[in-house]
Amino acid sequence: MERKSFGLGDIVLMKKNHPCGSNEMEIIRMGMDIRIKCVGCKHSVLVPRAKFEKNMRKVIHSAASAGEEAADTQNQS
Ligand SMILES: [Zn+2]
Repeated sequence: MERKSFGLGDIVLMKKNHPCGSNEMEIIRMGMDIRIKCVGCKHSVLVPRAKFEKNMRKVIHSAASAGEEAADTQNQS
């Protein structure tokens, strides 16, 4: 049971290709609906959260986890 997690600024891989041929999207707004921007053609679309979760394959680059990794290497006190 793997729950999909994603956050603002994440780059995600979609199951379906965008008409431009790219299937990578950047999450640019979170809410009831999620606004994603196509990495290929920069076109943005608003999709209901449920539909987004269904169509998303995986997170390619998580903005949040990248920050955690950076903090890890710093290893504060
Ligand atoms: Zn596109």
